[in-house]
Amino acid sequence: MHNTRLDPIGTSTVLAFQRDEGGDWVAVLDCGHTQHVRHQPPWLNRPWVVTEAGRDAMRGERMRCGWCEQAGADEQESDAP
Ligand SMILES: [Zn+2]
Repeated sequence: MHNTRLDPIGTSTVLAFQRDEGGDWVAVLDCGHTQHVRHQPPWLNRPWVVTEAGRDAMRGERMRCGWCEQAGADEQESDAP
Protein backbone atom coordinates (compact mmCIF):
# COMPACT_ATOMS: atom_id res chain seq x y z
CA MET A 1 0.00 0.00 0.00
CA HIS A 2 1.35 3.33 -1.04
CA ASN A 3 1.43 6.01 1.61
CA THR A 4 4.01 8.26 0.02
CA ARG A 5 3.70 11.97 0.60
CA LEU A 6 5.48 14.37 -1.70
CA ASP A 7 4.95 17.20 0.76
CA PRO A 8 7.03 17.39 3.92
CA ILE A 9 5.22 16.08 6.98
CA GLY A 10 3.25 18.77 8.69
CA THR A 11 2.69 21.11 5.79
CA SER A 12 -0.79 21.72 4.56
CA THR A 13 -2.49 24.29 2.39
CA VAL A 14 -4.71 26.96 3.86
CA LEU A 15 -8.17 26.72 2.37
CA ALA A 16 -10.07 29.28 4.40
CA PHE A 17 -10.34 31.06 7.72
CA GLN A 18 -13.08 30.99 10.30
CA ARG A 19 -13.52 32.26 13.83
CA ASP A 20 -14.10 30.09 16.88
CA GLU A 21 -16.49 30.80 19.74
CA GLY A 22 -13.86 32.97 21.42
CA GLY A 23 -13.40 35.12 18.33
CA ASP A 24 -9.96 33.68 17.57
CA TRP A 25 -9.05 33.07 13.96
CA VAL A 26 -8.76 29.47 12.82
CA ALA A 27 -7.20 28.34 9.56
CA VAL A 28 -8.98 25.52 7.74
CA LEU A 29 -6.39 23.28 6.09
CA ASP A 30 -6.67 20.90 3.17
CA CYS A 31 -5.68 17.98 5.38
CA GLY A 32 -9.02 18.34 7.14
CA HIS A 33 -7.55 19.85 10.30
CA THR A 34 -7.80 23.36 11.69
CA GLN A 35 -5.07 25.46 13.26
CA HIS A 36 -5.51 28.49 15.48
CA VAL A 37 -3.72 31.53 14.09
CA ARG A 38 -3.90 33.91 17.01
CA HIS A 39 -2.27 37.29 17.00
CA GLN A 40 -1.18 37.79 20.62
CA PRO A 41 2.04 39.80 20.65
CA PRO A 42 4.73 39.40 21.74
CA TRP A 43 4.32 35.62 21.92
CA LEU A 44 2.32 35.03 18.79
CA ASN A 45 2.96 37.54 16.06
CA ARG A 46 0.62 37.08 13.17
CA PRO A 47 -0.53 40.61 12.42
CA TRP A 48 -1.71 39.51 8.98
CA VAL A 49 -4.54 37.46 10.45
CA VAL A 50 -6.43 40.48 11.78
CA THR A 51 -6.89 42.02 8.34
CA GLU A 52 -8.96 40.63 5.49
CA ALA A 53 -6.16 41.41 3.02
CA GLY A 54 -3.69 39.49 5.16
CA ARG A 55 -5.93 36.45 5.35
CA ASP A 56 -6.58 36.62 1.61
CA ALA A 57 -2.82 36.59 1.04
CA MET A 58 -2.41 33.49 3.20
CA ARG A 59 -5.14 31.52 1.44
CA GLY A 60 -3.46 28.86 -0.65
CA GLU A 61 -0.21 29.22 1.28
CA ARG A 62 1.48 26.39 3.15
CA MET A 63 1.16 26.13 6.88
CA ARG A 64 2.52 23.64 9.39
CA CYS A 65 -0.22 21.48 10.84
CA GLY A 66 0.46 20.40 14.42
CA TRP A 67 -2.01 17.53 14.12
CA CYS A 68 -0.31 16.12 11.02
CA GLU A 69 3.11 16.57 12.63
CA GLN A 70 1.98 14.56 15.64
CA ALA A 71 0.56 11.83 13.42
CA GLY A 72 3.76 11.75 11.37
CA ALA A 73 5.92 11.48 14.48
CA ASP A 74 3.83 8.58 15.77
CA GLU A 75 4.11 6.79 12.43
CA GLN A 76 7.87 7.22 12.34
CA GLU A 77 8.21 5.88 15.86
CA SER A 78 6.11 2.80 15.14
CA ASP A 79 8.07 2.16 11.95
CA ALA A 80 11.44 2.31 13.72
CA PRO A 81 13.19 -1.05 14.18
ZN1 LIG B 1 -3.38 18.32 9.46
